[in-house]
Amino acid sequence: MSKQASKCPHAKKCGGCQLQNMTYDRQLSFKQVKVIKLLGKYRHVDEIIGMDCPYHYRNKVQAAFGERNGEPISGIYQSSTHKIVPVDSCLIEDEKADEIIVTIRKLVKSFKLRAFNDVTMKGFLRHVLIKRGFSSGEIMVVLVTGVMDFPKEEQFVNALLSRHPEITTIVQNVNNKRTSLLLGEESRVLFGSGYIEEDLCGFRFRISPRAFYQVNPTQTAVLYGKALEFAELSGKERVLDAYCGTGTIGIIASPKARQVVGVELNADAVKDAKVNAALNGVENIAFFEDDAGRFMVKEAQKGAKHDVVIMDPPRAGAILDFLKCLVALSPKKVVYISCNPETQARDVAFLVKNGYRVKKIQPVDMFPHTEHVECIVSLVRK
Ligand code: SAH
Repeated sequence: MSKQASKCPHAKKCGGCQLQNMTYDRQLSFKQVKVIKLLGKYRHVDEIIGMDCPYHYRNKVQAAFGERNGEPISGIYQSSTHKIVPVDSCLIEDEKADEIIVTIRKLVKSFKLRAFNDVTMKGFLRHVLIKRGFSSGEIMVVLVTGVMDFPKEEQFVNALLSRHPEITTIVQNVNNKRTSLLLGEESRVLFGSGYIEEDLCGFRFRISPRAFYQVNPTQTAVLYGKALEFAELSGKERVLDAYCGTGTIGIIASPKARQVVGVELNADAVKDAKVNAALNGVENIAFFEDDAGRFMVKEAQKGAKHDVVIMDPPRAGAILDFLKCLVALSPKKVVYISCNPETQARDVAFLVKNGYRVKKIQPVDMFPHTEHVECIVSLVRK
């Protein structure tokens, strides 16, 4: 496909690909300029690393289900509303996942199941979530339903598998709350193991329905590669992987570190992180389920030693307590990965005021066609 501005027929209603009217080259310069405006005063900003083929990169795809004129529909919520816009294929989503969602919609109709109605809170299928391991080939389908009772469950699962034998696991998740969250508390494995595995940077990772995993695997390898290059590990360092998710960065760093500690708030992600360490035979790593800020306060009180801190917080950035304790722990190097350069710039300003110097700034395009910008800043203690 060309890198010309893509013309998605759903763009206006969806609002997900805010830059889709720009050519890909223009999108990249738009993001580059944004990072220069926010962080350029500290250091030269290296050229953003884009994708060769910036389409169908998302390994995680979700669709909302509803009904129109008595027929099941599936698609996306119109931006800032709760109205479903029917969508069968999307320029940035994995094509196989989109195909499976269309099949599920047809099966819902032929099995005479109802889509969930979130006004009356009645009906069955609410959302479908699909995660795909691009290099392992494994595919997980999560059917999010309003109730646990699954009429003709076995026939439905068999019908889906016969149409898509590439599916490796199917999970039912029950979400009967009035919430904008996709997944509810209760899950049940209908087929396979209940998770997928994926290969990344020479390691294997488990991905469960709930845990965070980077959505663009091609660019994740680029991002992690750069982060590790900036960490300049020699094998002697004690590394802290803060906001570690399922432990990916810490595990990839582990052969080049003396010891790695990961901290993460999401209990499912921590569970996966521990499994991932075992899966890869990594022994010099430990994971803690905690708020990163609270964990840093305890580390600072203990006088713990970390030579390199790799941090990858959510969009809100790090809280002040985290940053204060980071400064108190005084690692030689901080590698700050962020999906929001605005909060990153705020946090970097604090670190620069408190004894750190910016050494490298590297934007990576993790989310082509959207306005989201990912950026790594490496800092060294002055
Ligand atoms: N480094 C990981 C995850 C980055 S996403 C990766 O590359 O895959 C950010 C992670 O921060 C998520 O896993 C989220 O659950 C976690 N998180 C959010 N708030 C947190 C907090 N206050 N303390 C610790 N972890 C938090």
